Amino acid sequence: MADSDVISTAPKPLLRVVLCSPRGFCAGVVRAIDCVERALKRYGAPVYVRHEIVHNRYVVEGLRAKGAIFVEELDEIPDTDAPVIFSAHGVPQSVPAEAKRRNFLALDATCPLVTKVHREAEIHRRRGREILLIGHAGHPEVVGTLGQLPPGAATLIETMADADAFTPRDPAQLAYVTQTTLSTDDTAEIVARLMARFPQIAGPHKEDICYATTNRQEAVKRVAPQVDAMIVVGAPNSSNSMRLKEVAERAGCARAALVQRAADIDWNMFGNIASLGITAGASAPEVLVEETLDAFAKRYTVSVETVSAAEEDMFFPLPRALRENEVAG
Ligand code: SF4
Repeated sequence: MADSDVISTAPKPLLRVVLCSPRGFCAGVVRAIDCVERALKRYGAPVYVRHEIVHNRYVVEGLRAKGAIFVEELDEIPDTDAPVIFSAHGVPQSVPAEAKRRNFLALDATCPLVTKVHREAEIHRRRGREILLIGHAGHPEVVGTLGQLPPGAATLIETMADADAFTPRDPAQLAYVTQTTLSTDDTAEIVARLMARFPQIAGPHKEDICYATTNRQEAVKRVAPQVDAMIVVGAPNSSNSMRLKEVAERAGCARAALVQRAADIDWNMFGNIASLGITAGASAPEVLVEETLDAFAKRYTVSVETVSAAEEDMFFPLPRALRENEVAG
């Protein structure tokens, strides 16, 4: 046992825990997980899922135990009648096309708010506009959005430097869309720079960063300045979780850490604090927040309060095939 794992029998110090609200699962993640569970119930195991259905190891392992098989590409799947589900992040158009060619029963768990961005990009393309996609290279959502367009139709903008360096073919025929899980502040700066350089640039009617990302960041901004440390429960490949850690640091909480679950907590970092903020990325289940809270309660006498930045009641219905199947069944 490491020194940091030793729990003292002396009276426990007090710890004020401030839970950020909203935190954790968003409507798109709930829908995606429901898709896999409903498909398993309806068709039986196995159910194939292209990419992690949502970026959380705990969720993925839970579904794997129930019979989901996770693959990165369709060519890893043998010829099968089993359903093939696309993850919440969305896929390039080539993926459903390939699924159709192979006669897979494809079920699309892409979040409707990602699909909205795909549609915007397609409308801009049809109007002959050159498209800027603000996002992070390599993230599956960015790969999916770029994959709605022919090669060369869109340019990825990751930073202010990219926004400064970009030269359009025609500044009057330019549009931008964004990844849904970016930092709201960073993105606002990049958009402001693009609008200053290209006043005619077309953008979304309502911004592409989704309600869940915005609300979780807003709650962190309120809590971070009033606590000694902040824990973000989430995965390192979860864009919205990574952004929450950055938002906490920028809002004045230097001691912020992303943890996948309680076992990851570095007690050298969190062993001597009087107040702690806790939030969770949109793909992190509440049970992992509870587990984190329990870990602190073993070392501290904990008092818990909640700071709320927004009420959420968003709900996305399941894909039609799963709904119809349920009615038919
Ligand atoms: S974080 Fe936003 S875009 Fe992503 S699944 Fe949740 S609601 Fe949809």
